Amino acid sequence: MKIVVLDGYTLNPGDLTWKRLEEIGEVTVYDRTSPEEVLSRIGEAEIVFTNKTVLSRETFKQAKNIKYVGVLATGYNVVDVEAAKERNIVVTNIPTYGTNAVSQFTFALLLEMCHHVWAHNEEVKRGAWTNCPDFCFWNYPLIELSGKTMGIIGFGRIGQAVADIAVAFGMKVLAYDTYKNVALESHSIKYAELDDIYRNADVISLHVPLFENTKGMINRDSISKMKKSAMIINTSRGPLINEQDLAQALNSGAIAGAAVDVVSTEPAKMDNSLLSAKNCIVTPHIAWAPIEARERLMNIAIDNLEAFLTGKVENQVK
Ligand code: NAD
Repeated sequence: MKIVVLDGYTLNPGDLTWKRLEEIGEVTVYDRTSPEEVLSRIGEAEIVFTNKTVLSRETFKQAKNIKYVGVLATGYNVVDVEAAKERNIVVTNIPTYGTNAVSQFTFALLLEMCHHVWAHNEEVKRGAWTNCPDFCFWNYPLIELSGKTMGIIGFGRIGQAVADIAVAFGMKVLAYDTYKNVALESHSIKYAELDDIYRNADVISLHVPLFENTKGMINRDSISKMKKSAMIINTSRGPLINEQDLAQALNSGAIAGAAVDVVSTEPAKMDNSLLSAKNCIVTPHIAWAPIEARERLMNIAIDNLEAFLTGKVENQVK
C-alpha cells in the first residue's frame, strides 16, 4: 500500500520519526509540495496525508486511487471534503492534540504583553541597567492580571483550557460560544454576549474556528466598543481579524496591544499591516508546535489510519 505525506516538514522537521507509518506501507514523505506537484506526487497512492497542501475537487477527480486522506491538523479546510465524500474517500483530522500547547502559548503572548520580558532582557544586556541611577527600571507599563477580565470567544476545548489558566491568575472570565454548557460556569467564569465581552474585557482571546460568520469579527466596529486598555490575542485563525482595522486601532491608540500567532495569509507577507503596527506581537504560527504536541498529533494521525484499515473509522470529518 502506497502512502504519501505531502508536507511532512512542519510536523516532523527531524526530531520525530515516521517509523510507525513505515510499518504500515510503502511511505514517501515530502517536506512540502507545491500545487503543481500535488498530482504527480500522489501518483498511485491510496493513502494521502496533508497538513496545509490543498486537495481540491480536481485532485480527487484525477488521483483515482485515493481512498483515505489524513489531515495532519485540526482544521481541515484545505481538503474539499464534499468532493472526497462523493468519491467515498474517507477524510480524518486530529480533533485534539494541542489544547494544552495552544492555551499555554496564549498565556506566553499575554505575559509578554504584560511584562515585555524579552525587551527588558535586551535593554539589560545593552547596559541600560548598569547605567541606571536606580535599582530598577522599566520601559513599558507593567500589568498585573489578577482581578482583570478575560473575554474568551469560542469556549471549546482550547477556550476552556485558557479559562482555567486565567482563573489561576485570579482573572474573571466572560465566555462567548454559540453552544452554552452552563455546567462550565463558576464563580469566576460566566457566559456573556459578544457586546458585553467587547465592552468589558481587559483581554480578548479568540478561540473560535474560522467560519463565514466568524471571519473578520474583530473589525473597526467591534474594536470601537473595546476599552482603550484592551489587549487582543489570536491563536486561532488569522482571518478572524480584519488586520487593517486592528493595525489602525493599534496605531491610533484606540486599543493597547495585540498578539497574534496567525495572520490572514501565511507565511506572513512583509507588507502585512500588523507587522508594523504599534504594540503588536506577531509569532509564526507556533502555538501548536511543542514537540510533545507534535508527537501526539503524529500518533493520532497513525491511529486514525490504523482504525480506517481495520474498518473502524475514527475522527472522520464529514
Ligand atoms: P473546539 O471545536 O473545541 O472549540 C471551538 C468552539 O467554538 C466550540 O465550542 C464551538 O461551539 C464554538 N463556535 C463555533 N462557531 C462559533 C461562533 N460562530 N461563535 C461562537 N462560538 C463558536 O476547538 P478547539 O480545539 O478549542 O480549537 C479552537 C481553534 O483553535 C481551532 O478552530 C483552530 O483554528 C485553532 N488552533 C490553532 C492552533 C495554532 O497553532 N495557533 C492550533 C490548534 C488549533
